[in-house]
Amino acid sequence: PLVLGIESSCDETGVGIVRGTTLLTNTVSSSMDEHVRFGGVIPEIASRAHLDAFVPTLEQALSDAGVALDDVDAIAVTSGPGLAGALMVGVCAAKALAVATGKPLYAINHLVAHVGVGLLDGAGGGRHNGTAPQLPENLGALLVSGGHTEILRINSITEDVQLLGSTIDDAAGEAYDKVARILGLGYPGGPAIDKVARTGNPKSIRFPRGLSQPKFMGTAEEPGRHRYDWSFSGLKTAVARCVEQFEARGEEIPVADIAAAFQEAVVDVISSKAVLACREHGIKDVLLGGGVAANSRLRELTGQRCASAGIRLHVPPLDLCTDNGAMVAALGAQLVMAGVEPSGIRFAPDSSMPVTSVSLPA
Ligand code: ATP
Ligand code: MG
Ligand code: FE
Repeated sequence: PLVLGIESSCDETGVGIVRGTTLLTNTVSSSMDEHVRFGGVIPEIASRAHLDAFVPTLEQALSDAGVALDDVDAIAVTSGPGLAGALMVGVCAAKALAVATGKPLYAINHLVAHVGVGLLDGAGGGRHNGTAPQLPENLGALLVSGGHTEILRINSITEDVQLLGSTIDDAAGEAYDKVARILGLGYPGGPAIDKVARTGNPKSIRFPRGLSQPKFMGTAEEPGRHRYDWSFSGLKTAVARCVEQFEARGEEIPVADIAAAFQEAVVDVISSKAVLACREHGIKDVLLGGGVAANSRLRELTGQRCASAGIRLHVPPLDLCTDNGAMVAALGAQLVMAGVEPSGIRFAPDSSMPVTSVSLPA
């Protein structure tokens, strides 16, 4: 099926088009530049930017893919979670298109779409390195984004997914953004830390790995309450203390070393707990997704640890990690192919849509 996907949950206006598991186009317009001076996304500015960007982004996507709106078999839109006003723009646009064209509309979970994008195949000349899994049973998904850090089990992507573990405080992307601010690296922090960390020594400082002590982990037989959970707020505080100590001593702050050591702590604990959860649930295939999945060290270390554990890790190309419309189209196409009923046009966007709900029922 030819599916058009619309994304507007945060500061990216995205329209993507897929045919089955083949990506035709992924067109994204970001209002990031307008938020930089505030050091974070301002919801009202993001909503207005979506209004301005939607029609040009849609037209660009259709022209890049060489398809007409009439050729499309279904429309998919992010209905949550995200910023309420931002979601509203994409949802209203999608409903209008669905009514005008008579096409079925699917209300899609943004978080499931972040990992579902890994089901696209080697579109555009092996962009996806040709390893899209044919939906193996007992599929795992590691979602590491700006607002979420979760390890999921997906028995069927069209049915409800199961949450195995998650962060109990900050999301990994949030920690990157906060630590970047502490280090004076600006916004968004993830890409900045990733870059500067390459010149630092990750072993120079040992930052805490949250919830890794035996009392939280327990054993395989008697798992602790937070065996597969993460915590990043203590790590953020440890970085702030570390910077203060250098300042108090009047020493120059070793930004690259701190960034590298912080990144190592995040990536170490994410990858080790994800692999543990997969091993203990017999999971052999894992989809990696979310904005932080663009992180070079997370991709490297998680890849190595999965390989040692005999787990196949499916990593999307960089431009499909952060928010985009192709991921929404990709998950929408899976639902169409599985014969799932469309959502109709009466649903409302849900800013706190739980990850366990893949799409909204009619
Ligand atoms: P959610 O998907 O949970 O609703 P979001 O949509 O705001 O949140 P994403 O777009 O998935 O988040 O990801 C944005 C986050 O990814 C930001 O926190 C950003 O700093 C982080 N990020 C992007 N690139 C990298 C990178 N190379 N290394 C680390 N973090 C990164
Ligand atoms: Mg964004
Ligand atoms: Fe996102």
